[in-house]
Amino acid sequence: MARPLRNLVVVLGDQLNRDSAAFDGFDAARDAVWMAEVAHESRHAWSAQQRTALFLSAMRHFAAGLRSEGIALHYRQLQEPDNTGSLAAELAAAIARLQPSGVVAVQPGEWRLEQMLQQVAAAAGLPLTLLEDRHFLCSHARFAAHARSRGRAGLRMEYFYREERARLGILMEGGQPCGGAWNFDARNRHAFGAAGPGFLPAATAFAPDALTREVIALVRERFANHPGTLDAFDWPVTRAQALQALEDFIAHRLPLFGHWQDAMWTGEPVLYHARISAALNLKLLDPREVVDASVQAWRQGAVPLPAAEGFIRQILGWREYVRGIYWAGMPGYLEHNALDARLALPAWYWSGDTPMRCLREVITQTLRTGYAHHIQRLMVTGLYALLLGVEPRQVHQWYLAVYVDAVEWVEAPNTIGMSQYADGGLMASKPYIASGRYIEGMSDYCRGCKFQPGQRTGEAACPFTTLYWDFLDRHAGMLLANPRMAPQVRNLQRLPSRERDAIARQAALLKAAAQAGLSSPG
Ligand code: FAD
Ligand code: SF4
Repeated sequence: MARPLRNLVVVLGDQLNRDSAAFDGFDAARDAVWMAEVAHESRHAWSAQQRTALFLSAMRHFAAGLRSEGIALHYRQLQEPDNTGSLAAELAAAIARLQPSGVVAVQPGEWRLEQMLQQVAAAAGLPLTLLEDRHFLCSHARFAAHARSRGRAGLRMEYFYREERARLGILMEGGQPCGGAWNFDARNRHAFGAAGPGFLPAATAFAPDALTREVIALVRERFANHPGTLDAFDWPVTRAQALQALEDFIAHRLPLFGHWQDAMWTGEPVLYHARISAALNLKLLDPREVVDASVQAWRQGAVPLPAAEGFIRQILGWREYVRGIYWAGMPGYLEHNALDARLALPAWYWSGDTPMRCLREVITQTLRTGYAHHIQRLMVTGLYALLLGVEPRQVHQWYLAVYVDAVEWVEAPNTIGMSQYADGGLMASKPYIASGRYIEGMSDYCRGCKFQPGQRTGEAACPFTTLYWDFLDRHAGMLLANPRMAPQVRNLQRLPSRERDAIARQAALLKAAAQAGLSSPG
């Protein structure tokens, strides 16, 4: 007779880490792992084909690794005829069939999935052990303590980041930050200028192997009407590939990361960025090894300090900080709408079919590759939705759907908080707003666009610029209360009322035009 099962160890699609706490004390003779692919995870946000393919391929590769170690694995594939499509239903059925004495999992990244595990285990009358996710450098308890210590001053990434650097001794010497400053942004963030980026070191591309090709065929068949295409799929899908991607970045792009971090250029999605967010979020990479490799490259003299520090701040600072904001704010964080934005997301966000060259470039690139770098997300697609006044929940659904690295704990604070200022300043100290002039300065997108970034009214006016001035007018009260934003409102107040009326009229036309058609392909 088969031995009774002690623990059913649940491994979710973004928990592909063999060193996670889920495997502490794992007894191959008494425990088994459970994993499942379900359609609902691709449909609750209308997931791009690349995103679904990446998750499925990485999960199947991870499962193959477990099997090769002789670990008992119960794995549900998407195409199994009786797959219900629901993670909760699949887990409940597995529990009923396997009769474990308990369920064990690492705490999910997403609030919804933690609720699901608790409900399924409770309904089955089983104890659920949720273990700390050691992937992250800052635990929930530590972040809560940090938030308490900030008190009424409120949370700010910069203070969190300094505290974490000092605590972990990263880029620190004798209790002081290396180089005598916490950041060197004054030396970072340049634009390419008219000549463009010149030679660019191409990021390592990972040609799909047989298993990935199988998954791609499955996604094409099952999710044919989902956004994006799969022809350009070249993401790392295993830990070995993720390490190779990291090594390639450190050697070839990190040295110039800080310098060009905010620049954008037509046809060049990656530039000097790492392209490792998806591997990190799937837990194929550990943030410690990413930080350590960057520090080491600096110590060896291969990377300047401003580049190493600027990059480490993204991982140790922003990435951990947004996770803290998410868990401190859930449930409820997704409902924020501090600016009372009510418009629907324009239909062309799902196709790129717009005459605005910057948006067309970033959206078509996104649908083709599943990738855009931070400034493309924040200062092109995010900025336009903010200026237009799109309901934050719809913007959130779009970001969750289209990027291969999209998981709610990191996407939601970036979208709802940083890019849409919908949380009223919990995440960011001010709304990130700018006119088309910013995009003109940081990219070549405006060249060849039918609009003029410097013009706010008239036929050739750049819609970003019209809507920027309209945004200042609509939110003048809130912006005047913020010393960093007030000067921009004063510029608006200096305009003749005739001009302000013309801006309002043109903005109203842009909003009406943006509302034509459907808001989502789902
Ligand atoms: P690089 O620019 O090379 O940065 C290195 C790493 O730092 C990234 O891989 C990432 O892990 C981390 N990082 C950088 N910025 C942030 C940030 N603001 N928050 C958290 N981590 C950061 N990132 C995601 O991983 N998933 C998302 O769903 C996501 N949604 C976003 C939505 C919006 C509206 C915005 C403005 C940003 C979003 N980001 C998201 C953050 C950032 O844009 C991506 O992490 C980055 O573009 C990934 O590309 P890269 O690996 O080349 O990053
Ligand atoms: Fe975008 Fe305006 Fe520049 Fe056209 S002119 S590319 S719409 S910023």
